Order: sequence, then C-alpha cells, then structure tokens
Amino acid sequence: MTLDAIDRVAVLGAGNMGHGITEVVALAGYDVTMRDIKEEFVEDGYEDIEWSLEKLAEKGRIDEAPAEILDRIDTTTDLEEATEDADLVIEAAPEEMDIKHDIFSDLDEMTHDDAILASNTSSLPITEIAEATDRPERVVGMHFFNPPVKMDLVEVIYGQETSDETAETTYEFVESIDKTPIYVRKDVRGFVVNSVLGPFGDEAGWMVSNDEATIRETDATMVHERGYPMGPFELGDLTGIDIGYHVRKEAGQPVPPIVEEKVEAEELGQKTGKGYYDYEDGDGA
Ligand code: NAD
Repeated sequence: MTLDAIDRVAVLGAGNMGHGITEVVALAGYDVTMRDIKEEFVEDGYEDIEWSLEKLAEKGRIDEAPAEILDRIDTTTDLEEATEDADLVIEAAPEEMDIKHDIFSDLDEMTHDDAILASNTSSLPITEIAEATDRPERVVGMHFFNPPVKMDLVEVIYGQETSDETAETTYEFVESIDKTPIYVRKDVRGFVVNSVLGPFGDEAGWMVSNDEATIRETDATMVHERGYPMGPFELGDLTGIDIGYHVRKEAGQPVPPIVEEKVEAEELGQKTGKGYYDYEDGDGA
C-alpha cells in the first residue's frame, strides 16, 4: 500500500486521543470515520472536535470553515461500517491488551487485505498486538501525543513482522497530516518517549505515596525549579490517570498507591472533572 492509495481512514475510539486524531486527519483533507462503542461517547468526541475547530478558526489557524472539515468526518458505533472501506485504521481504544486483541482480530476479518492496521498504544508491544491478525506485516505502531492537534511528534513503531512498506507508508502518511514522524525500530514497551518519561511520573508517584512530598510541591518543583512545562501530576490529569495505570499494570510493574487510589475512585483527571486536582469545583492544577 502506497500513500496515494490511502483515501479513507477509520479511527477507533472517540476519547482523548481518538477524537484528536480524527480531527488532525480530517484537517489534512482525508475522509475519516470515528467509531466508539456507545453513541454518547461518539457524540462527546464529535462535540470536542467541533469546539476545537471553532477555536482554530477564531485564531485564524485554518483556511477552511469548520463545517467543511466536519463534512469529512463520519461517526458510527458499528465497527464493520467504520472499517470495511478503510485503507488505514488507527486504533485508539483503552490501553489493555485484551481489548486491542479483540479489535485487531475483528479488523483482520473486516478490512480489505491491503489495509494498514495501526495502533496508537502508548506502550504495548506492537508485535503482540499483531499476533491477533494473520497479517502482522501490515500492523504498525502510530503513536500520537496528547493533544494530537497541538503535538507535533508521532512515533512510527516497527513490530517484529512489520514490513518496510507498511512502516514507510505510515511515515509518509504522518508527514501528509503535517506531523513529524520518527521511526522506532525496537519494539520496547514505551517506545522512545514514554521510556524516557516513565520515571518522571513513577518517582513522583512513589514520593507522594510515601509522604515524602505533596502533589503541589512536586509539580511546583518540576515547573519552577526544573523548568518543565507541567509537573507529573498535572500531566497525569491531562493524559488520564488510568492510562499510566494500565501502562504499569500491563508491564507487570508495581503501581504507586496514590495512582491506584485515584483509579479506584474513578477520579481519572480532566476527563472526569477531578484527578489529582479538582477541575469542576476547584481551580485545577
Ligand atoms: P480514553 O479513555 O480517553 O478513550 C478511549 C475510548 O475508547 C473510550 O471512549 C472508550 O469508550 C473507547 N473504546 C473502548 N473499547 C473500544 C472499542 N472496542 N472500539 C473502539 N473504541 C473503544 O483513552 P485515550 O487517552 O484516548 O487513550 C487511547 C489509546 O491511546 C490508549 O492506547 C492510550 O495508551 C493511547 N495514548 C494515550 C495518550 C494520552 O495522553 N491519553 C497519549 C498517547 C497514546
């Protein structure tokens, strides 16, 4: 499959990443179908896209009217409808291997033989995801960062069986949506960026769990003394506390109690209105 053959894209998941990836793909001129498991999730994601396109228009960052871009986006809860004509599928469902396996096994049945099957996983081995299909050479990692509309980098990850053709077309596709791709040729958990970023959140989680620092002290130190744009807890609230939790669980790593408590309380960050900070009744981070 060459870049010219990519016409229709399907994005699976309308959450934080799925709706952002859908927006970026439609902005670049592709037809895209966004699929989630419930109508309400699809609607929430679509409304987030509408809001974001309005903001981009207000700031004069887009040449087309938001309505024209929205015209290229279809939504559905039906997996087959979303993927039967897709040349490229980008999966952005929860970070759990069982869910990814179910999806990729269905995709293997439903998509045409040449379609590229990409996962936006943060950390799960692409090689293992590809095992759910009979075409591991067409499975690839395509790892966007949050929020996709603002973040430039996309990791293009080779699983053990990914063909050069699949990885190269994916790389060219990323360039075609005005992002900057890098190849990750070793399928290690966390790839490049999250391998570097992991300890930033982990160490902070253990320090707070062990009463060695508070959440605010930790974030303030990293921002004001170390010069990071945001501290580890504010970042956890932005990316979703459950995402980091599943990354650690799936890797068999111990989870700091502060993270576990938040997931049990379903306080997952900005997406639920409360995480380490309160975004509804409080001032946020
Ligand atoms: P999220 O919880 O915001 O959204 C996940 C969505 O997937 C939900 O709306 C859920 O209903 C939906 N879903 C569940 N099962 C599905 C299925 N079978 N088919 C389609 N949709 C399904 O999560 P997110 O933050 O968007 O993360 C999605 C993926 O992207 C994960 O693999 C995550 O690791 C990765 N990722 C996340 C970030 C981040 O900062 N949040 C960054 C890069 C990559």
